[in-house]
Amino acid sequence: EADKAARKERLLEKDRNYVWHHMSPHNDNPLIIESGKGSWVTDIDGNRYLDGMAGLWCVNVGHGRSEIAEAAAGQMMKLAYTTLVQSHIPAIELAAKLNEWLGGDYRIFFSNSGSDANEVAFKIARQYHHQNGKPTKHKFISRHRAYHGSSMGALAATGQAQRKLKYEPLGAGFVHVPPPYCYRCPFGQTEGACQLQCAQAVEDAIVWEGPDSVAGMILEPAITGGGVLVPPDGYLPKVRSICSKYDVLLIVDEVICGFGRSGEKFGHQNFGVKPDIVTMAKGLTSAYSPLSATAVSAELYASFKEKQTESHFRHINTFGGNPVSCAVALKSIEILETENLVSRSAQMGRAITSGLEPLKAHPHVGDIRAFGSAIGIELVEDRASKVPATAERVAAIIAGCRQKGLLIGKNGDTVPGYANILTLSPPLSSTDEDIAFLIRTLNEVFALHVA
Ligand code: PMP
Repeated sequence: EADKAARKERLLEKDRNYVWHHMSPHNDNPLIIESGKGSWVTDIDGNRYLDGMAGLWCVNVGHGRSEIAEAAAGQMMKLAYTTLVQSHIPAIELAAKLNEWLGGDYRIFFSNSGSDANEVAFKIARQYHHQNGKPTKHKFISRHRAYHGSSMGALAATGQAQRKLKYEPLGAGFVHVPPPYCYRCPFGQTEGACQLQCAQAVEDAIVWEGPDSVAGMILEPAITGGGVLVPPDGYLPKVRSICSKYDVLLIVDEVICGFGRSGEKFGHQNFGVKPDIVTMAKGLTSAYSPLSATAVSAELYASFKEKQTESHFRHINTFGGNPVSCAVALKSIEILETENLVSRSAQMGRAITSGLEPLKAHPHVGDIRAFGSAIGIELVEDRASKVPATAERVAAIIAGCRQKGLLIGKNGDTVPGYANILTLSPPLSSTDEDIAFLIRTLNEVFALHVA
């Protein structure tokens, strides 16, 4: 015991001295997670936690999958690295598999992170218009509250002010429109009785900016990190037809929604639309190895495959599509298929929302939303006024869950005072007992926070 305590103190001291944490650099008492199995992770004190966020919306097949470790080790022994200036077998097989999952004819450009995949999408969209005699088309439309990454272009596309302050100027040419957010409709409408003004806002933005200046629109099928904002059914089809009307490319960010989280293989498949470009990361490898992909429709790709060097896409990413990550992705997708985890995701989402039904009467729960098994619980001070819950209240509930062995998340910073949405995205491989634990724990913690 004394040894264990001394080891922990040594680790914490090094952590304090050397590690710059993501988002919370002054976290002086972080959980030090040492191992994981299934939906559970264990810290160095031996405490177990249900990983209710699958890491950060990514460990879709669960922790401790030896078959993925074996696939990675096997590929490392055979060939750890070669470039995609040439080709290799795992990338070929993965690109074909992604086409099967997308149900379409896409060329796949590999990189390392979701941010990378979106930067690639922006560059391809701009170059495409250039090559098609429309060089002034350069702007991108995106939505407030959505997150698209941390790099200068992806952050510019992001509609969360708190993340951007102090880093500007970011990439130029990004225009934001209000999101579909039925609980707090930006247009003052009532859910189910509106004219989809949120979709019309996309057309207005394109027209007012000048269609000759707009290259693309980027959106997540449902805004996940920004608070699980699920659009009405007609929204995506309407945005798709607006984009087509003005020759604006539709880029769908499937970094979180993809690979089963939404209850379909990809989130946009819930709405029957065909994107021009699809970006993916996180669940692509279930986070066992960094990898992202930008899938580009065959029609778009056609203008890049001329032999002239002017039509080359001048972009390379050293580790992008490395053989080990591609082998890991293939194995993770195989698990999603053989264990039917896509339909499991939809069913799990329904089980969680029905298990949380009692919370709908809780004085501080304003709304519970689900997109497949991505769940958002919007906290308020008061249900009638919908004033967002205070940071203290949100933190107390998260801490209460942690104390009982459940890790949950909250929405990213949007504007001050609006980080009031709890988020859940358990591994898709979670067992019924795991889900029962998650539901029971949340109900218990909320019962302690009625005042
Ligand atoms: N898009 C979305 C929707 C995301 O949630 C994220 C990451 N949370 C990204 C892009 C960026 O991915 P990465 O952190 O891998 O760069």
